[in-house]
Amino acid sequence: MSDRQKDLFLKSKKYIPGGVHSPVRSFKGLTSTPRFFKKAEGAYIYDVEDKKYLDFCMSFGPLILGHRNPKVEKALHEALERGWSYGACEPYSLKLAEFLVEKIPYVEQLRFVNSGTEAVMTALRIARGVTGRNKVIKFNGCYHGHVDSMLIKAGSGLAGEAEASSAGVPQGVAADTLILELGDIEGVKKCFQDHPNQIAAIIIEPLPANNGLMIQPIEFLKFLRSMCDQTCALLIFDEVISGFRVAFGGMAEITGIRPDISTWGKIIGGGLPVGAVAASKFIMEHLAPIGKVYQAGTLSANPLAMAGGLATLTEMTDENYKKINEQTLKITKVLSDWMHTYNNGEFSMFKITSFSSLFWIVPKDNVTKISEIPENLTVNFNKLFEIFLEKGIYLAPNAYEVGFVSLAHDDQVIEDLKRRLG
Ligand SMILES: *Cc1c(COP(=O)(O)O)cnc(C)c1O
Repeated sequence: MSDRQKDLFLKSKKYIPGGVHSPVRSFKGLTSTPRFFKKAEGAYIYDVEDKKYLDFCMSFGPLILGHRNPKVEKALHEALERGWSYGACEPYSLKLAEFLVEKIPYVEQLRFVNSGTEAVMTALRIARGVTGRNKVIKFNGCYHGHVDSMLIKAGSGLAGEAEASSAGVPQGVAADTLILELGDIEGVKKCFQDHPNQIAAIIIEPLPANNGLMIQPIEFLKFLRSMCDQTCALLIFDEVISGFRVAFGGMAEITGIRPDISTWGKIIGGGLPVGAVAASKFIMEHLAPIGKVYQAGTLSANPLAMAGGLATLTEMTDENYKKINEQTLKITKVLSDWMHTYNNGEFSMFKITSFSSLFWIVPKDNVTKISEIPENLTVNFNKLFEIFLEKGIYLAPNAYEVGFVSLAHDDQVIEDLKRRLG
């Protein structure tokens, strides 16, 4: 890398805190500085010095068809030529809402927002509005966006007790979130006993994929469903990352477990800013203008973003899910074979956990909760990351982020991956 990108990053740090608009882009702890990208196509992304990288970050998930998919690009052009915001009803958002509700059997209504964070914020408010209760159970290692009440870590006191993991979150807000370890069945039971008729909802990533990939035993998800049924709390599946990725209907479809509220983001906008909260008509009609739970958005259901989402999701047929899963298995095999032979096995500690088109490079199998994640993960990952970057293979710049495969990662791309690994 020449000094050009370093200069851009220096300049960025002058005008933007830490030089980035989202912390995970900052290359924190790495020796190199963030790449500045100028264009992308298919499975590839190009930096401002024309270096071409095979991309496994894919904008952190939304681009399941790859960069600049021609069908999405055409739909965006058509939408653009009509106008890009009315602050009023328009047909694209109706079309996307109808398409989703008709295809996904466990939802009856949805509302579009602008991000996954907003979707979660709305879901929590609805859950509190529906139940008239304040407390929410969240699991350590699940990410639900930067909502105040979700920026929480375990406190030092009683099980379930939480404190803010970010400055600026009032203790009063943190106090209404109960935090538990994934898989802690007894802890969940105890929380309900200790706080009778106070818990509005349990929120979980049914496939936790924001702190590594921690695949949950289905029994645990089933237990949460039955616990909610017994206590009239609502079960929120935050499927911002898993929705439309592991299957069209996300983990709810794969497990057959029906959440009361679903949150979506990432793929739902095909790379444009969209989130959604979805549930039964009964639950959703608690929202204004019908109900008393307030929620709004100047740019919500922006027609350009709706067109991008619709064009992306229409492509996600069963056949394409099968294809993307097959490609992921081939890719993870190439990567793990390389890690076991490179430089006399320098990276042979690493294995790859994958689920559908998500993968995580980690020195351990079957990680299901935070305490099982090896401590030296970051050191070894950072070395691996720099070598890959040099070879023109772009991973998300953090050991705790997963890799994403898109439909543009075809066999030709896999051949290129082998060539790049050398
Ligand atoms: C990405 C993500 C979010 C936050 O979405 P943003 O669009 O970044 O606000 C929330 N929950 C989960 C599970 C996510 O993966």
